[in-house]
Amino acid sequence: MTALNRQPTSPLARLPEEGTVAYFSMEIAIRPDMPTYSGGLGVLAGDTLRSAADLALNMAGVTLVHRKGYYSQHLDAEGNQTESAQPWSPEAKLVAEDPRVTIAIEGRTVTIRAWRFDVHGATGHTVPIYMLDTDLEENHPEDRNLTDHLYGGDGDYRLRQEAVLGLGGPRILNALGYEPVVFHMNEGHAALLTVAALEQRMAGRSLDSATDADVSAVRERCVFTTHTPVPAGHDRFSREQSNRILGVERTNLIERVGGFHDGLMNMTYVALRFSRFVNGVAMQHGKVSRAMFPEYQISAITNGIHAGTWTSETIQAVFDQHMPRWRQDNVTLRYAIDIDSEQIHEAHQASKRRLIQEVADRSGVQLDENIFTIGFARRAATYKRADLFFHDPERLVRLARDHGGLQVLYSGKAHPADAPGKAKIKRVIELARELGSETLKIVYLENYNWELGALLTQGVDLWLNTPKRPYEASGTSGMKAAINGVPSLSILDGWWIEGWIEGVTGWAIEDREDEGGEAASLYEHLEQEILPTYYKEHERWHRIMRSAIALNGSFFNTQRMIEQYLLNAYFPEQLVDISAESLEPVLTR
Ligand SMILES: *Cc1c(COP(=O)(O)O)cnc(C)c1O
Repeated sequence: MTALNRQPTSPLARLPEEGTVAYFSMEIAIRPDMPTYSGGLGVLAGDTLRSAADLALNMAGVTLVHRKGYYSQHLDAEGNQTESAQPWSPEAKLVAEDPRVTIAIEGRTVTIRAWRFDVHGATGHTVPIYMLDTDLEENHPEDRNLTDHLYGGDGDYRLRQEAVLGLGGPRILNALGYEPVVFHMNEGHAALLTVAALEQRMAGRSLDSATDADVSAVRERCVFTTHTPVPAGHDRFSREQSNRILGVERTNLIERVGGFHDGLMNMTYVALRFSRFVNGVAMQHGKVSRAMFPEYQISAITNGIHAGTWTSETIQAVFDQHMPRWRQDNVTLRYAIDIDSEQIHEAHQASKRRLIQEVADRSGVQLDENIFTIGFARRAATYKRADLFFHDPERLVRLARDHGGLQVLYSGKAHPADAPGKAKIKRVIELARELGSETLKIVYLENYNWELGALLTQGVDLWLNTPKRPYEASGTSGMKAAINGVPSLSILDGWWIEGWIEGVTGWAIEDREDEGGEAASLYEHLEQEILPTYYKEHERWHRIMRSAIALNGSFFNTQRMIEQYLLNAYFPEQLVDISAESLEPVLTR
C-alpha cells in the first residue's frame, strides 16, 4: 500500500525535472466557453497541454488572450456567411498575474500583462496557460487592441501580435520566475520567441554582435512543429514591415540567420533556422515538409486528441467499467478489443440521440436514429473539398434511395477573408436544399466550434474526410470520431494513412486521377460495403466500431504524442530522425 501513498506523479515527470517546457501557440482551445481558437491548431494546443497535465509534466502554455475571440459564423437561408466578434471577459475566468513587461513595437513601448488559466490533469497536477494582454491604460490606444482578434486585421496587425507573443512571452515567463529549458513553437506564429531568447542571452548587447555560438545556444533550446503544406499557412512579411514594426536591428539579425526567403521575412524559416528539432504532424506530412524545405532535417510526430475531452459521456462510462485507468494511461484503450461490441453500439446510440436532439433544436430538422448518418465538419478551406460528396448528385440521390436512407450533417466556418471558402459553403447549402428528400436528409449546422465538433464526432455513424492530397497535414477530427467508435471514410492523407485498415478501422477513398474518380470511389464504398454492412450486418458493424477505438483511439491521442515529444524532441538521449520513410499509402493494406 505504501506506493499508493506517494504523491501522484508520472514516471515521465522525471525527465523534465530540470525545468519547464514552454509551449507557445497563437491559439489554444482552453475551454468551450472561451473563443480563443479557430480550428485544429488551437484544439491540438489545448489537447497537448491537457495531456501534459495528465502526465504531471512541467509545462507552461503561452498564448494571447484574444478578448474579442475568433469569429462566430452566421448563415442566411441562401448560405451566405457573415461573421461577428465573440467578446468575452478574461476577468471573469482567469487569474491576474502581477508582472508587467515591456517591448518596443513600431518604436512605441508596449506594456504586456498575463492572465493565468490552470489546466488540471487526471492525477491532480496543473499546467498553467499564460494569456498575454495589452489592454492596459498606459498603452497607446492602437496597441490596446493588439490582443483582441485571433487572425483578424491586416499583415501589420498580425506581425505586431506575433511580436507580443514571441517577444513578450519569454519576458513574461522570466518575470514569473521561469527559465524554460525548451521552447516549443506550435507553428511559425511563435517564431519571434527565438529572437527574444537571443536578446536575453545578449543581455543588452546589440544583436549585431551575436555570434554563431550565440545562435547555437538558442537553437539548443528550441523545438518547432510545422503544421501545414498550404503556402498561405506560412506567415510572410516585407522587409519594410519588419524594419518598421520590429526594428532594423532585429530585422538584420533575422536576415543574417536566414529568416528571409524570396525577399520576405518568413516565420517558418525563422523557426527552422533557430530550432534543433523540427517536425511535421504525421509521417506523410514530415515527408511533404522535407520536400518543401529540403535543406532541413524534419522529423515527424503524428498528432493526437485528448481522450478524456473528446469521448462522449456514455462511451466514457463503458471505458470506466472495463479500463478504469484509461484517463491516466491511454494505452489501455487497446483493451477495448475485449468489450462486448453490442455495449459500444448502445453507448454510441445514446450519443447519436443527443446529436439528433441538438440538430432538431438548432435546425428544426428531425433525424432518425436508425438511419445511417454521415458527418463532415471542418474549416471551409478549399483544399478540404466540402463539395466532393456532391460530385454526382444523381448517383448520390439513388444511393440514398436504394440502400436504406442517408442523413448527412455538415458544419464549418470560412475565414472572413476567404471568399472561395465561403462559396463552397454556399454551394453545399444549395445542393443540400436541391437534393434533400425523405431518404436523403442534409443539414448544414451553423458556427462549427468545440461543442458542435464533440457532438458530431460522438454521434454520427461515419466520419467523412475528402481533402485534396497532400494538403491535410494531419487532421484530428477523425481521431475524435475513432475514439467514440466512429469509423472514417477518407482520402489517404494526413493521419489516415497511418490509422486506416480497410474494413477494420474504416475505409480509404482511392487516390484517382481527378475529382470525379475520387467521388466515384467514395460512392462505391458506400454502395458496396458501408451501407450494406450498417443496415444488414449489425454484428460486423459493431466490431468495426470497436476496432476503431482499440486500434486508433489507443494510439492517436495526445498522451502518446507528448510522450514522443518528450523522448525525441524535448529530452532525447540523442537527436534522431524518427520519421517512418517507408510509410506510403498502399491501397492493399
Ligand atoms: C477537432 C476540430 C478541428 C480539427 O479538425 P480537422 O480534422 O483537422 O479538420 C477543427 N475545429 C474544431 C472546432 C474541432 O473541434
